[in-house]
Amino acid sequence: MTDNPLSEEKNILLARRQSLLEDIAALQETLRGEVDMDVDEGDPDVVEREKSVALLETLQSELAATEDALRAMEQGTYGICERCGKAISPERLEVKPEATLCVKCQAEVDRLRRRGVMSTRRWNAEDYSFG
Ligand SMILES: [Zn+2]
Repeated sequence: MTDNPLSEEKNILLARRQSLLEDIAALQETLRGEVDMDVDEGDPDVVEREKSVALLETLQSELAATEDALRAMEQGTYGICERCGKAISPERLEVKPEATLCVKCQAEVDRLRRRGVMSTRRWNAEDYSFG
């Protein structure tokens, strides 16, 4: 597969997915171990636990993005914005190889998410198609 122009990006994404999976597993293990603890509200342990939960959610969404990008590579749509269908700039992909949205769509989606309008990537479902 040395003639694959995306092999380098793919390796980066695969390594990233592996490290995310390990981090997530470690974090889940930590959280599981704390489930039976009897703690009061405001306890430092509770704060720590909330931080861990927030981190876990971040890691899981990064993992989902990484897997999306890998799937896009297999389908030959890597580097194409899955929302507007335009090419994602190589500079952006270099900084963020898991990106499946162009800068413009990403900003729009982030804005909608912050407002709570969109909690999931609904265009990723059957209601969205290229062309
Ligand atoms: Zn776009």
